[in-house]
Amino acid sequence: MPEGPEIRRAADRIERAVAGRPTTRIEFAFPHLARFQRRLTGDVVASVETRGKAMLTHFAGGLSVYTHNLLYGRWYVMQAGRLPKTRRSLRFAIHNEAHSALLYSASEIDVLPTSAVDEHPFLAKLGPDALAPGLTDGALSRHLAAPRFARRPLHTLLLDQAFVAGIGNYLRSEILFVAGIHPHERPGELTGRRRLRLARAIRRVTHRSYRTGGITNDERRAAKLKAQGVRRRDYRHHVFERGGKPCFGCGAKIRRETAGGRKLFVCPGCQPAPVR
Ligand SMILES: [Zn+2]
Repeated sequence: MPEGPEIRRAADRIERAVAGRPTTRIEFAFPHLARFQRRLTGDVVASVETRGKAMLTHFAGGLSVYTHNLLYGRWYVMQAGRLPKTRRSLRFAIHNEAHSALLYSASEIDVLPTSAVDEHPFLAKLGPDALAPGLTDGALSRHLAAPRFARRPLHTLLLDQAFVAGIGNYLRSEILFVAGIHPHERPGELTGRRRLRLARAIRRVTHRSYRTGGITNDERRAAKLKAQGVRRRDYRHHVFERGGKPCFGCGAKIRRETAGGRKLFVCPGCQPAPVR
């Protein structure tokens, strides 16, 4: 599933193609949304916002389209009138004179007044977005200290969108590695200094992935390895998908585990298990 950085990059492409221009046609595949097709045609896309893995296409006329890709949804940006070669089914399309932004296969699509976006049942439950421009390490660290999170292990919490929005499976492993925190640790057991380190890693790793198009490894190290001819999958991450290989930092053999039914990668040298 795409994670926050991939969704934000898709939103950037869509925004470049459709923001600030009047639409020439809007399509919704779901019958209950068909009535909005005419209403949004001719309207101007004001902006494309992301909240975690959800996307909001805001129209100047006061409506917003909520979409969530879940596992299968995929956006394409094409020249106006062109369709991608795909066997997926089209669910939502924004066309203007120059471009078409097309969403395939997604099942979560809603139209709602922009003023009511915060009350949307999925959005209302989200924690702070790791990519939110106004978010600081200090504010995020205070959020992580909330009593409701104190006793839950971080391997579970980091995938809970109510904890922090936008983190998925590869970011979970990478954030914990960069913070030097073992996945079985709990926020209530962290000192203030380590909690701040976790907050900083959440923001830094997610922003780096957004900026680089999915690289979470140290950028200088990744560039050096790339120049040596190393394949992208072998320099992209610190630990994710590197089970059995040596840690770039300490040389210890990276361990592959399963947590919450999903794979998790840990460096036993850089992320020692908690002593209880
Ligand atoms: Zn290590």
